[in-house]
Amino acid sequence: MAKIENYNFAEKKAIVRVDFNVPLDENGHITDDTRIRGALPTLKKILADGGSLILMSHMGKPKGKVNPKFSLSQIREDVAKALGADVKFVPDCMDASEAAANLKPGEVLLLENLRFYPEEEGKPVGIDKADPGYDDAKKEMKERQKDFAKKLASYADVYVNDAFGTAHRKHASTAVIADYFTPENKMLGFLMEKEVQAVDNILKDIKRPFTAIMGGSKVSTKIGIIENLMDKVDNLILCGGMTYTFAKAQGGKIGVSIVEDDKLDLALDIIKQAKEKGVNLILGTDCVAADSFSNDANTIVCPSNDIPDGWEGLDAGPETRKKFEDAIIPSKTILWNGPAGVFEFDNFTAGSRAIADAIVKATENGAFSLVGGGDSVACVNKFGLADSVSYVSTGGGALLEAIEGKVLPGVAAVK
Ligand code: AMP
Repeated sequence: MAKIENYNFAEKKAIVRVDFNVPLDENGHITDDTRIRGALPTLKKILADGGSLILMSHMGKPKGKVNPKFSLSQIREDVAKALGADVKFVPDCMDASEAAANLKPGEVLLLENLRFYPEEEGKPVGIDKADPGYDDAKKEMKERQKDFAKKLASYADVYVNDAFGTAHRKHASTAVIADYFTPENKMLGFLMEKEVQAVDNILKDIKRPFTAIMGGSKVSTKIGIIENLMDKVDNLILCGGMTYTFAKAQGGKIGVSIVEDDKLDLALDIIKQAKEKGVNLILGTDCVAADSFSNDANTIVCPSNDIPDGWEGLDAGPETRKKFEDAIIPSKTILWNGPAGVFEFDNFTAGSRAIADAIVKATENGAFSLVGGGDSVACVNKFGLADSVSYVSTGGGALLEAIEGKVLPGVAAVK
């Protein structure tokens, strides 16, 4: 695999898979340009070398059909502004041969949303998994996906994948396309390299103690990661809504708190595994309970396993927050995924805030801290602390799959 920092793009046409799936308001204006900014180091290096850029991305879920709501033409101006260069646009990603051939060094071409074609995702259309003939339809679509990827590849001399957000998908533009470039002409972009390095710091190059903090609403969506981390961490903090599944599993009274009744055995098994593996499992012992699911609800602090009828735990209590801090502050490697309470309500941010502050302190003391997965990123952004941790991942699903120990197709294809 080539390395972007060593590659000279002079006179080359580079097709770059970026993640420009940015949120838009009802007028088609970008509300958060983090993803565009994330790709800039890669794009600017290519232009500065004297290469030309062909940018490709998906936006939203148009499900294989043209839909103006998801047109990348809406962000053309913003991309141009961010790059400080004019951006040409082709309204059909399968009809860009001429525009690509005419590109001169320093010029930029943006292709229309790849997902206007079902071939991008490679899922057969109009047929259900359970339908007879699905396997044949899938095979046929895989062939069409190869042709689609080959066409995209034909526009350029070199392929760069810098879309970490979709690296866990084996799509035409994220993986299949790599087959049409020689090893010395395909590579990861700077953003992808940073993300992969951040995951390696957590999974391979671990400095101890290692504390993982998993929160959010459910244990079921985090179980793969929890199990993979169990063999690696010294401290495992499980917080947020899953607290109450654990409390109930151990015979606690949880009022009307969020709970996964079909995961009670799983919770007991996690407790057992932690004991067997010598992992210090930290579960909430007290909570801030509310009499309704709202920011203005009345609140009490009570044990997480003795919540009055009709009340629900929405945040970590003071004793629990202290336990979180005691584990996090002396740590040297920290992973945080998922809030410790309903942080969207300002009155229930204390648990998440305590975690964020402790991570910042540990980071100041030399720890490597990785924050990732949608809601914890929203959390550090809300607290204005994104610049005070070592790394904030841009990839939700991709990051979680990488931490589960899965090989990301977007990375494997280039390697
Ligand atoms: P997830 O997508 O699984 O990471 O969950 C994130 C969501 O979990 C956020 O929207 C939080 O509001 C929610 N959450 C965290 N703690 C609780 C809780 N105690 N009760 C209900 N929802 C919670």
